[in-house]
Amino acid sequence: MDQAADIAEAVAALKGGGLVILPTETVYGLAADAGDPRAVAAVYAAKGRPAFNPLIAHVADAAMARRIAVFDDRAEQLAAAFWPGPLTLVLPIADEAAVCDLARAGLDTLAVRAPAHPTARALLDAFGGPLVAPSANRSGRPSPTTFADALEETGGSAAAALDGGPCRIGLESTVVSLLDQPRLLRPGAVTRAEIEALIGPLSEAEADAKRSPGRLARHYAPNLPLRLNAEEPRDGEVFLGFGPLSQGSLNLSPEGDLTEAAANLFAYLRAADRSDARGIAVAPIPGEGLGEAINDRLRRAAGFVG
Ligand code: AMP
Ligand code: MG
Repeated sequence: MDQAADIAEAVAALKGGGLVILPTETVYGLAADAGDPRAVAAVYAAKGRPAFNPLIAHVADAAMARRIAVFDDRAEQLAAAFWPGPLTLVLPIADEAAVCDLARAGLDTLAVRAPAHPTARALLDAFGGPLVAPSANRSGRPSPTTFADALEETGGSAAAALDGGPCRIGLESTVVSLLDQPRLLRPGAVTRAEIEALIGPLSEAEADAKRSPGRLARHYAPNLPLRLNAEEPRDGEVFLGFGPLSQGSLNLSPEGDLTEAAANLFAYLRAADRSDARGIAVAPIPGEGLGEAINDRLRRAAGFVG
């Protein structure tokens, strides 16, 4: 495949108000020009996403981010340490036109991230401005972590689609608000400990859910019922194991490695959905490091607020 030609075709689609399936290191996104309200409306429609849930503006680098959001010292430190990468910063908005009202759900704040995937970077460089790119799933469903899953979810709404292989991380970005006290709105691959080492203690999101409308109780959910912290499967259940002692064909990580488990999680939930099982049971996953993000997604997939 000719990467340059694919990128050019995707840029043309975006400039024409179309949507593009885009690989990132976290999950596949459904991208649109952040400044084009009609294109952004088409993203909400394709996902069936409630319009009160704002989108993340994806940028090529910190320079592009500084044009649309107000950076303070903490933002500079975090961007220098973790960009490009799986960290989203919520900041005051600097340029109201670059990211349309609908993309921000009317807020005067902006969530911004510079993704690391080479294809995402190439597209952002060539496009030259911010793109919204929420996960390419229908709202409420597990995020797609392979090209095939992304096409199955929202490919029908996309004018172009870029295949970047399976997503390296497999969980959505960490979201940190820097509006007043630093706050962890969504755990992810950049861990709480890594962020606190740079900018000090993070407040909890749960006490202040209104700040992140995306913290819905049921989200990332497979079709089958999900049972957490299961030691073994019950009759009719498919079992997602973890670690060397777990039996069963779908082990998230036989080595007990959290990075591997995160990368496999959504694809295995989808595989379980495609089986003829009546339910899904998941082994206990340790809560430290990346385990915080995995357990957050599992609780929401099972319908519990985290
Ligand atoms: P997604 O696009 O599905 O990865 O979700 C983006 C997440 O970022 C959701 O949880 C949103 O609610 C959150 N988010 C986006 N913009 C803002 C904002 N301005 N303030 C707080 N949270 C935001
Ligand atoms: Mg999503």
